[in-house]
Amino acid sequence: MDSTQPEIDICIVGAGLSGLTAAYKILSKESTLKVIILEGGDKIGGELQSSSLGELGGKWITPDQYHVYDLCRKLNVPITRREKPPPNLQRSWEIDRGFYGALARFEVQRLIGRINLLSAQFYPGAFKLSKDDITMEDFISSQLLFEQSRQFMRCFIRFIAGVEATDISYSEFMSICEGSGDLSELIALLTGTSSMTLEFSSEQLLSKLEKEIGSYYIFLKSNVTEVVHYVNYALVRDDRNNVFRTNVLIIAVPWQISQRIVFYPPIPQELRTPLFESKYMMSSFLIQYPENHWRKKGFSGSLILHNPHMICYEYRPNVYGGLVAHEEDFDKILQPVILNRLSQVFGAEMGIPAKWLQKTWEQPAVLNLPTTTPWNHIIWGSTTAATSYRGCLSGAVQSGYRSAVHALLILRPQNIGWQDINEIGKAAAVRPRHSSLKLFLSSLNLYNTSVYAGVAGMVYVSYKLLKGVKRSYFG
Ligand SMILES: Cc1cc2nc3c(=O)[nH]c(=O)nc-3n(C[C@H](O)[C@H](O)[C@H](O)COP(=O)(O)OP(=O)(O)OC[C@H]3O[C@@H](n4cnc5c(N)ncnc54)[C@H](O)[C@@H]3O)c2cc1C
Repeated sequence: MDSTQPEIDICIVGAGLSGLTAAYKILSKESTLKVIILEGGDKIGGELQSSSLGELGGKWITPDQYHVYDLCRKLNVPITRREKPPPNLQRSWEIDRGFYGALARFEVQRLIGRINLLSAQFYPGAFKLSKDDITMEDFISSQLLFEQSRQFMRCFIRFIAGVEATDISYSEFMSICEGSGDLSELIALLTGTSSMTLEFSSEQLLSKLEKEIGSYYIFLKSNVTEVVHYVNYALVRDDRNNVFRTNVLIIAVPWQISQRIVFYPPIPQELRTPLFESKYMMSSFLIQYPENHWRKKGFSGSLILHNPHMICYEYRPNVYGGLVAHEEDFDKILQPVILNRLSQVFGAEMGIPAKWLQKTWEQPAVLNLPTTTPWNHIIWGSTTAATSYRGCLSGAVQSGYRSAVHALLILRPQNIGWQDINEIGKAAAVRPRHSSLKLFLSSLNLYNTSVYAGVAGMVYVSYKLLKGVKRSYFG
């Protein structure tokens, strides 16, 4: 591969939030460096995309997502509190339905609390994949009594990890929850039900980042296909056969997608974290209605259904939104299927929208262990390589900060101060330590207490029977 382009200092692959943050951070520390971004799509932002009705991709953060909060503050992008429907309105979650709804809700709440406690032990340094680990399907089946509670957990496992509960082990899922905050926070983020859900305009954030970096240095429709890697530099080829020679390369695309780039020599085995391939897509939709039909019927709009797996909410008073986890090609029939499901729940008016918008993304599996060690002059970015809030917006910013610091440590180490290193590690809230008693109490659930009660009942009946037999024989 011959170099046909002038030499550059840092080439970033991917103009998602992670790649843009990396470029912004590098240039704010050293503006003389020649930095370019190669983006495969026709616009910047990746999973952060705004539309005429609002945000179609990443939209909400919680106050604990420190890094994205910090970036918005630095760039003067206002963050506002999400306005939610009044609390007296009814939600429509499949788990609440039927005779056992209250019990199912109770046992799921207990299990989520237990997973939060358990996952705190799976911080990256301590994490080891165990070969004889049980699957999450086995785990939830041993903890939950009702099928509707199990369905609820399967739905969130699919949204959070991008795989079925049968395809992910207990310790993998726990480490993902730990790396992304905790399970309650992830559920609150996906459903928009946290009492402190915050939002910002991705359009504003992206345009400010673009302005800081200089749009001239962002190459759109430049899909990187091949990297030839030497000790001190790399040659990067895109699908239009442009070749860039760069001193440092930052791969700011989700790990699963980065595996499609051909590396010469191949990425060493120790950097190839075991990965389960996600075969699912995630579609996001926004629907505008002339009126707020769900509120009129006494509903808040918060909806969770399992066939297909969908999590929906009132996005704005007249705009309804949601996420659907599905298999390939389902997005082609998404609109009629969703409108039909919404009509069944909230009434026929939901089938006649004023405007419908949708966008589909490949749902990248979040790694159990992020790859953070640079490989000579190749540095790993993207939210899947973050060490806090992995898979979230904050993770994208954190990995962007980290890859920028790694790149500067190679090219301009004198520009890096302790504040920059500190900024990467700055985690969200400090997690409280949990006592063993709390952990033990959390293990008591409807499933095992009913099994224990059943066993105790059987022992009691056998004892009574034996006593009766003894009495009739001896006396
Ligand atoms: C529908 C949806 C809703 C979400 N909601 C939230 C939310 O409410 N809160 C939250 O915290 N997080 C949310 N997320 C997650 C969050 O949006 C992402 O974690 C974050 O935006 C990822 O940023 P990134 O830069 O790591 O990756 P990406 O955004 O995926 O960016 C990677 C970029 O690299 C480009 N690329 C890929 N391969 C190549 C290649 N070979 N050559 C060149 N370019 C390439 C892609 O086109 C893309 O632009 C949501 C995600 C989705 C899909």
